[in-house]
Amino acid sequence: MFIFDAHLDLSMNAVEWNRDLTQDLNAIRQREANLTDKPDRGKGVVSFPEMRKGNIGMCVATQIARFVKPDSKIPGWHSQAQAWAQTQAQIAWYKAMEEAGEMVQIVDLPGLHKHLELWKNAASTENLPIGYILSLEGADSFISLKNLEIAYQYGLRAIGPAHYGPGVYAYGTDSDQALSQKGKDLLREMEKLNIILDATHLCDTAFWEALDIFKGPVWASHNLVRKITPHNRQFSDEMIRELLERNAVIGMAFDAWMMVPGWVRGKSTPESMGLKIEHVAEHIDHICQLAGNALHVGIGSDLDGAYGKEQSPMDLDSIADLQSITGILSARGYSATDIEQIMWRNWVDFLGRSWK
Ligand SMILES: [Zn+2]
Repeated sequence: MFIFDAHLDLSMNAVEWNRDLTQDLNAIRQREANLTDKPDRGKGVVSFPEMRKGNIGMCVATQIARFVKPDSKIPGWHSQAQAWAQTQAQIAWYKAMEEAGEMVQIVDLPGLHKHLELWKNAASTENLPIGYILSLEGADSFISLKNLEIAYQYGLRAIGPAHYGPGVYAYGTDSDQALSQKGKDLLREMEKLNIILDATHLCDTAFWEALDIFKGPVWASHNLVRKITPHNRQFSDEMIRELLERNAVIGMAFDAWMMVPGWVRGKSTPESMGLKIEHVAEHIDHICQLAGNALHVGIGSDLDGAYGKEQSPMDLDSIADLQSITGILSARGYSATDIEQIMWRNWVDFLGRSWK
């Protein structure tokens, strides 16, 4: 089945991790087998060939670069200008991938439908370009709203204002503060440009404020359920209900610590926790129960988000294994239509509503 993955940090992997995603996964792993600078060295699960193997023909791909103040304990750039420069390297890589026929940028409905037809009608997915919608994870790299205008011109269509910690525009995961004036101005400008608000990573206070201020389309590209995994990174039922009210779609992430309670980062292993892909079905079930249908859940795997096999389900060796979700949902009684909605169609329907 076709898969639409609403969250991958492809350009971060290319530009910051120095991964050539056009290569086979084994080649990428071998090339970095002796490196220790990142936790997931030699354990990556994403490459373009694997995406094609798994029929993942469409994704939301990010630009990402955080700004941090001198007292920050989380990594990041020391000025917003450096963060901006990093995102410009990332967009340059996406454009190079388009030139090479590896990717194709999707910015409107005609482009989206043309791309879906291409994948539907192809005899083999082997040489097909992967479609991507450009998103920005954490807006720190915007020095001013002028950068938003520039980014819109090169194809940016979704923004999550926050990431981890105190952001310039909004506070994110593991922090909490009301939106700054800059954050409010950003949301208003996004609404004017019809840019999608990604509610993922917003701290609770900013989440409620942002949804109040912003009247445009809202999705949550990679988020799970707080009732199952109690942590501020996940959504409470109240937040999920608000998102349902806004006709949002919530993407299911496969970062181990988010999927099951009790994961200790750096200590727990997929095997010690018995973590499997099927654990995601608990989160899917929960949201579908709150919604009363299967129209608000999608896939937003985050499988290249600074972790790899060491922090993914034990039965997932590559992103192509996301295909097994279809069988897992089928065994739990989901209809073929519902499974199709979850694997890709809910995101496409969302864009149909938002880009009309
Ligand atoms: Zn994230």
